[in-house]
Amino acid sequence: MDVSDPAAVPLHTRTCDCPSHGVFASRAIELPALGRKPGKLIWSRCPVCGREAAAREAAAQRAEQEQARQQRMEDRLNRAGIPKRFRARSFENYLADSDAKRHALVTARGFAEDFSAHARRGTTLVLAGNVGTGKGHLALSVAQHVMSLGHSVFFATAREIVLMLRG
Ligand SMILES: [Zn+2]
Repeated sequence: MDVSDPAAVPLHTRTCDCPSHGVFASRAIELPALGRKPGKLIWSRCPVCGREAAAREAAAQRAEQEQARQQRMEDRLNRAGIPKRFRARSFENYLADSDAKRHALVTARGFAEDFSAHARRGTTLVLAGNVGTGKGHLALSVAQHVMSLGHSVFFATAREIVLMLRG
């Protein structure tokens, strides 16, 4: 039998019953006899089960990729020295309850979104104000946005920088 010629391959079909999806037509390919081994038929399985298995595998792969992506971000935040308690701080949850804070939010967000241009020009952003006005929150929001653009970030207090320079 010439298996490369489809007309020469006998067509086998039978009706099968999938416990989950009911009746389907199964087709078989025939493996020819090889030496003393007799030929045999390989029957196709339920096509819906096959599609479901493929979808489950694709979903598992996506979940794995998403987990790896989150882990990479977490690693970068760790390397940047951003404390865990500050990581939820973003532009979205900054409380801009005065004109000065609204101005600070717009400025910081604009700086973060145009960071690549600022980095090329060497422009910096200084946030000055009283304790509790959200300077740290905005700085961390800028840092996390800038990281999401693929830049490196280093988080340190002024005291830590002075200690590092002395060291
Ligand atoms: Zn099935």
